[in-house]
Parts: sequence; structure tokens; C-alpha cells
Amino acid sequence: MTVKKFNMINIKNNIDKIKAQIQQACQENVRLTADAGSANIPSPVTLLAVSKTKPAELIEQAHLAGQNDFGENYLQEAIDKITQLAHLPQLTWHFIGPIQSNKTKQIAHNFSWVHSIDRERIALRLNQHLTEDGSHNTPLNVCLQVNISNEASKSGVAIKDVFTLAEIVNNCDKLTLRGLMAVPEKNADKACYQEMQILFAQLKKTYPSVDTLSLGMSSDLEQAIAHGSTMVRIGTAIFGERVKN
Ligand SMILES: *Cc1c(COP(=O)(O)O)cnc(C)c1O
Repeated sequence: MTVKKFNMINIKNNIDKIKAQIQQACQENVRLTADAGSANIPSPVTLLAVSKTKPAELIEQAHLAGQNDFGENYLQEAIDKITQLAHLPQLTWHFIGPIQSNKTKQIAHNFSWVHSIDRERIALRLNQHLTEDGSHNTPLNVCLQVNISNEASKSGVAIKDVFTLAEIVNNCDKLTLRGLMAVPEKNADKACYQEMQILFAQLKKTYPSVDTLSLGMSSDLEQAIAHGSTMVRIGTAIFGERVKN
């Protein structure tokens, strides 16, 4: 199909473009850090391709372009695609959407990473499922989603509760606490990013397993990398606009 071929070229181009943008932002960041008199070299930034609402064929095309980490928000849709793409064991699936507690079993059994842990009940349930199913690859890598904009409507743990939840996750033997995730509002000011950077640094000091700041999307990846992001979640800039979000 000609459509497919056209898409393949686009997706590869888009991934190459994003990677160049990430690299540029990292270099810029090294410069900033050096100017501030610090010898810190920022960790390399991982590209997570957010494939929600996009078909398995496009994920496969991204994989052919060298992409192996994929993020999904909607459980049933994700499981359909994970099943369709089971012939590609190199793919690593990240759950990044809001979590209902009756969905934790399927999440635990289908994903290697969960970025959106925001309450104790979810962490304990995931750990419980993984404990009951001895055959599953564990531990599960988790990030705590922080409600950085402090809006009642957004998911995420309040900043003041981050360390309490971190301690709970750290005590779950089937979960590995990898770090923090946030979805800043559109045009959020710099203070949001700075706050995440500070929280991440504090968490890292407390827990040696912490190495991931999941921050930055198509429209704010530079800002995120400038504030120490180690994983950017990019959907639109790779796969194009979505009809629903
Ligand atoms: C949809 C989504 C993204 C990707 O957003 P884009 O603007 O399309 O890059 C990243 N993170 C989360 C949590 C999302 O829901």
C-alpha cells in the first residue's frame, strides 16, 4: 500500500528530527550547567514514543526506525496492540494514563513500566498481582505522577505527599521506584519545571534506584530537558495529530 510507505518515511523522519532536537537540548543543557560552574553531565535522555490512538502498523514502522519504548494511555486499546505486536519482543511498553484500581491486574501483567502511580492503593495492588503471579518478569519499573500544577482536576500525587508515596513504593518488593512523572499544563511557567527538578534531585538522594524524570512532551521537550528530564514522552511529533486525546 502506498499509504503505508508514505507513513514509514514520515515516522522515520519524525523520529530522526525529535532525536536531533533532544540532542541539541542536551548540548544546550550541558552548556548551561557548565556556565553554572558544575561538573554534572546530565543523564542521556530516553525517547518514549506515545502511540495512544495510533494503530499497531505505525508502531511497527517506528520500531523499524529504531524505536523500542512505547507509551500507552488506554488499557484495552494498549492490550490489543501489545497482542498484535507480540512478535516483537524488543518492544518495551510503558503505561502512562490514569489508573483505575480494577485495572491494575492487567497493567501489572502487560507493562514493564508504569509512569502514573499516584496513590498507595494502586501501588499495593500492582505489587500484590505481581506477587501472586510468580511467572511474570519483575520488578515493575514505576514513576510517581506528581500533580505539579496543583489543579484539582488533574491526576497526580500532591507535592507534599510525594515522599510518603515513594516510601510505600520502595517497600513493595515487586516494584522498583525509578522516579517521577509530570504533565505540566500548557504554557506552565518555569517554576513548575524547577519544582520537578528539585523534587527529583531530593528523591534521587534518598533512593538509589531513582534515575528517571519523565517530563516533556512534543511542545515542551526543550524546557523539560533544560530542567533535567531523562525521558521525554512524544506523541504528536512522531505520529501526527490525534483525533481524540
Ligand atoms: C498524550 C500524552 C503524551 C504525548 O503528548 P504529545 O503532545 O502528543 O507529544 C505524553 N504524556 C502523556 C501522559 C500523555 O497522555
